[in-house]
Amino acid sequence: MPNLVVENPCDNPPVWPAAPVPVKNPLAAMELATGKKKDRFGCTRNSGTKFHAGLDIKAVKGTECFAVADAKVEEVGFGTDVGKYVSISYNVDGQTIGVAYCHLNEALVKKGDPVVAGQVIGKTGITGNPDPNEPHLHIEYQTQIWVAYASAVDRSKVAMNPNALVPVGVAGV
Ligand SMILES: [Zn+2]
Repeated sequence: MPNLVVENPCDNPPVWPAAPVPVKNPLAAMELATGKKKDRFGCTRNSGTKFHAGLDIKAVKGTECFAVADAKVEEVGFGTDVGKYVSISYNVDGQTIGVAYCHLNEALVKKGDPVVAGQVIGKTGITGNPDPNEPHLHIEYQTQIWVAYASAVDRSKVAMNPNALVPVGVAGV
C-alpha cells in the first residue's frame, strides 16, 4: 500500500465543480441534516479547517434511496467512516460521474447491476461514523468512478459539490 499523503484542501480550497442536477432526487424528502458538525459539502467543519466530502441529507433509518440517474452499480462495500455504501456511475456529456450513498443499513443492488433513475438502490442507516441521534444519507459525487478514503486517491481532488441538492433556506441551513 502506498502511503497516502493528503494535503488539507482547506488550506487553499479549490473551486470544486458542481454536481449535475439529478434526474431523480436521492431521497423523497430533501432536507439538510442538522448535526453538531456542519453538514454541507466543502470546508465546513472545525471552523472551516476540515473538509467534508459529501452532503448530509436527513433520513430516518430505513429511508429508501433512489438512483439519481440511469447508471451502473460500481461497488457495494463497507468503509470505517462511510459505513455500508453503494456507488454508481453514469455519464454526462462525456464526463464520468461517480455517486456514493453512504451510512446505509441495506443495499438492494449488487456490483454490475444496471439501475434506472428513481430505482430504489438501498435504505439509509447509521453505519460508519454518524451520530446515531442524527441519522442521514451522506451522498458524495466525484469526477470519476467513486473511490473511498482507503484508496490511494485524495478525494478532495476528484470531488464535486452537491450542495445545490438541498437549496439554501431549507431547514438546517
Ligand atoms: Zn457526511
